[in-house]
Amino acid sequence: MPEVSVVVPVYNEAEVLPELASRLVPVLESSGCSWEVVLVDDGSTDATWSLLTGLAASEPRLTLVRLSRNFGHQLAITAGMEQATGDAVVVMDADLQDPPEVVLQMLDHWREGYDVVYGVRVERTEDTAFKRTTAALFYRVLRQLTRVDIPVDTGDFRLLSRRAVDALRRMPERARYVRGMVAWLGFRQIGVPYRRDPRFAGSTKYPLGKMIAFATDGMVGFSVVPLRLATSLGFVMAAAALGYFGYAVCMKLLVGRVIQGWTSLVAVVALIGSAQLICLGIIGEYVGRIYLEVKGRPLYVVDTVVSARTRTC
Ligand code: UDP
Ligand code: MG
Repeated sequence: MPEVSVVVPVYNEAEVLPELASRLVPVLESSGCSWEVVLVDDGSTDATWSLLTGLAASEPRLTLVRLSRNFGHQLAITAGMEQATGDAVVVMDADLQDPPEVVLQMLDHWREGYDVVYGVRVERTEDTAFKRTTAALFYRVLRQLTRVDIPVDTGDFRLLSRRAVDALRRMPERARYVRGMVAWLGFRQIGVPYRRDPRFAGSTKYPLGKMIAFATDGMVGFSVVPLRLATSLGFVMAAAALGYFGYAVCMKLLVGRVIQGWTSLVAVVALIGSAQLICLGIIGEYVGRIYLEVKGRPLYVVDTVVSARTRTC
């Protein structure tokens, strides 16, 4: 059993893999620990898998997991953690935005007895202003909405001790927001500040649509406040409607004038209608998730595993 496992989700990253190997392996060698790297091919359609098998042929400490299709970043991480056998498991992106050298600092904290060491992005100048602002806003809003102490500006670049990994594996939920789930675990946790480098090559595998879906998973998975928001909004609308009703009656009694305009009427109806639709949408978000969870399908399907164990038999 290696002491350290590094889990790397990989989706169409053929351009970065050789560089990843040449930077990560020396760092792990210098750590003084025995190690393995678990690379999870999340249904890549480029040369990723053939490159990975080529790398694994000359390095037995590489374990490869190929998923049967693209299941998404969070499930790829989950698949990797289930395969990892190390006493400490580090999760990092393939694109070298998470500098492998930081892993050494994480290991130091692990030796001090921490169960979770998460990377805190102190600078992310390489990301677009849009991504930086929306991410900063999202992490702060989510923090307000949930009781779980999810540290702001952290990604999935983190180290988990064996008992933290085992506890995480007991959380069967499908809509996985791994960084929040790890925060929920508790244990001794500490942050390591690091500078997020630009992507080494290729382009982001997180287009806006995936980013929104991910953010929704975070919000809905960690808070029922949006559901309560619907109730509060209902009360506000009811108060406004009552006020408007009172105003109309006063006008009728005091001024003797009936309010003519149907514009205001239409406006109020449209407002109430849209508030109801929003509330239905919020409820739908949760009901949809209940439906997906209740089906109890496996989280992902593995196509092939290449590891020292499978190679010998
Ligand atoms: N990734 C994955 N499956 C996906 C999307 C991304 O395994 O469906 C991997 C990707 O190869 C990378 C990591 O997840 O190693 C983070 O993706 P990316 O760097 O594109 O995200 P960004 O840093 O732009 O948010
Ligand atoms: Mg990236």
